[in-house]
Amino acid sequence: MYQIIKTEGRAKRAQLETVHGTIQTPVFMNVGTAAAIKGAVSTMDLQEIKTQVELSNTYHLHVRPGDKVVKQLGGLHKFMNWDKPILTDSGGFQVFSLSKLRRIKEEGVYFNSHVDGRKIFMGPEESMQIQSNLASTIAMAFDECPSSRADRDYVQASVNRTARWLKRCKEEMARLNSLEDTINKNQLLFGINQGAVYEDIRISHAQEIAEMDLDGYAVGGLAVGESHEEMYRILDEVVPHLPQNKPTYLMGVGTPSNILEAVSRGVDFFDCVYPSRNGRHGHVYTSQGKRNLFNARYELDSRPIEEGCQCPACRHYSRAYIRHLLKAKEMLGMRLCVLHNLYFYNHMMEEIRQALEQGRFEAYKKEKLEGFEQAKAEK
Ligand SMILES: [Zn+2]
Repeated sequence: MYQIIKTEGRAKRAQLETVHGTIQTPVFMNVGTAAAIKGAVSTMDLQEIKTQVELSNTYHLHVRPGDKVVKQLGGLHKFMNWDKPILTDSGGFQVFSLSKLRRIKEEGVYFNSHVDGRKIFMGPEESMQIQSNLASTIAMAFDECPSSRADRDYVQASVNRTARWLKRCKEEMARLNSLEDTINKNQLLFGINQGAVYEDIRISHAQEIAEMDLDGYAVGGLAVGESHEEMYRILDEVVPHLPQNKPTYLMGVGTPSNILEAVSRGVDFFDCVYPSRNGRHGHVYTSQGKRNLFNARYELDSRPIEEGCQCPACRHYSRAYIRHLLKAKEMLGMRLCVLHNLYFYNHMMEEIRQALEQGRFEAYKKEKLEGFEQAKAEK
């Protein structure tokens, strides 16, 4: 059950009760593509860096090790030893972005595996079955994410098909949740709004899916090449048409600034690969913006990445040491940067929740954005 605790303008402080525990929102979900966060981060680490929700990729786990293998081993929670909520994406995004050879039909998509080239078919029912086998807490509907450069006619036809697919997802999820041998019979389903940069298409699609009484609603297909201003404009237009009494998830977004802007527009679920990907390259987030630890200025710098940060990297190690590890290509360097970055995001979400509770989110947002801007000006 989803409960709104407090609002400030359109921003929501809420909580979602699930069979794997209560999620406090706004929340940043930590992306572990193949059931692990890239950068040698384990589920033991996730406990320490304030992770609430782990996100795994349906497509990757379907290809390897196979969702049936995961099911035989008791589902994703047992497999990766994580008892808190897990969200699985639908596989749609990877099908459309990773596979060069694909054919989209009414029934679903035919494509070749990016690992061994074998032919795979995935439609709404297959995506729901795979996610049911994985037994995640929240499953995402199977959709097409049309390119932000696609023409209007293509986007309209694609969105119409995505809406028909959503009805099939909902029916299949209800059937799977009623089966005797389903691991998580309370699996939740979030629908996804699409429509590229055409807000009228997005609005009518949002109104259509809002009537379907799903467990949550996502805005997909943003942060794929359009400007930040365009993304904020679309959120301004679309979010008010999604049910306010349900979670609102902005998929694949984004920078700390993007998150602050989206929270004030009513979004309360986020995920993004930036903190782990940047961490693997020695780029670390701080309240004064991003730092590149490869920079020579950190050679003799005995301070932590960010003073006052309570993450495992900052509590124990200096910028100089982590810089040395990165330059020596020691895996620990990358790991410490990823831990710090994920902690930075998770901690910022905690501060956002506190600010909302105390009715000072707009002031908090302004102060944070000014800090990030300061660093940009100094570079
Ligand atoms: Zn830190």
